[in-house]
Amino acid sequence: MRDIKGRADLCAINTATLGFQAPIGQVIDAVARAGFGGIAPWRREIEGRDVLSTARQIRDAGLKVTGYCRSTYLPAATRAEFLASVVDNRRAIEDAARLGAYSFFMVVGGLPKGSRNLAEARAQVAEGTTLLIEHARELGVRLALEPLHPVYAADRSCLTTLAEALDLCAIIEPEPPAEPWLGVGIDTYHVWWDPVLAAQIVRAGAARRIHGFHVSDWLNPSRDVLNDRGMMGDGVIDIRAIRGAVEAAGYQGFIEVEIFSADNWWKRPIDETLRVCRERLDLAC
Ligand code: ZN
Repeated sequence: MRDIKGRADLCAINTATLGFQAPIGQVIDAVARAGFGGIAPWRREIEGRDVLSTARQIRDAGLKVTGYCRSTYLPAATRAEFLASVVDNRRAIEDAARLGAYSFFMVVGGLPKGSRNLAEARAQVAEGTTLLIEHARELGVRLALEPLHPVYAADRSCLTTLAEALDLCAIIEPEPPAEPWLGVGIDTYHVWWDPVLAAQIVRAGAARRIHGFHVSDWLNPSRDVLNDRGMMGDGVIDIRAIRGAVEAAGYQGFIEVEIFSADNWWKRPIDETLRVCRERLDLAC
């Protein structure tokens, strides 16, 4: 396990952590000034702008783009909507390539409005990902399927476990190159509860499919499972143990902080949140 004390250069900030309070240009400067090595922007900050000049600003600030967040949900009520979502995701993958992102993060979507057919939603996720992987490979962008905590199965992600995500990888990319294009994003907030987590992390690492690692904490009690994530060390997740397992499995990429916290961290000045992130990466990760 790497010693990350004082090594913010091994760590990245997912811009959602800062609550989208400032334009991306200012966020890039603040993250670099705080000593971090990477940044993961969101499409809402990038789309409609000059993507290449933002990419240049990130590079010039000395930052790497870890992941680009995130996919448009794939399951849809009609075939036309499903195909529109695939097209939308292809465009986003093109922006990920322009940004030089290591991976494009896929939050796959839950049930379409009015549906009770989870199996159909999952089938659409498999088909949609199959339709995207070739485009991603051609552009040199890895896809990271991020299983979400099952509490989001209805509205955000019918993909809920690392095992399920890895099964999908093996089906869609059955004979991967040495460095697979399809992999998983492991987020402590989403996977910490999983009784077979350790074995699945080993499996993901052995397949070289760990395309990103997110950290935040699960507060107990949580006021809102979407927007009340905790700063590392404030909750119940043994983040260091999970990082140890992920790195023992071969992952050497960035440790990315991603905290959705509408009533706490998003209300604080960006520089303060970044300072506390650094402290907690040292103390609790
Ligand atoms: Zn995440």
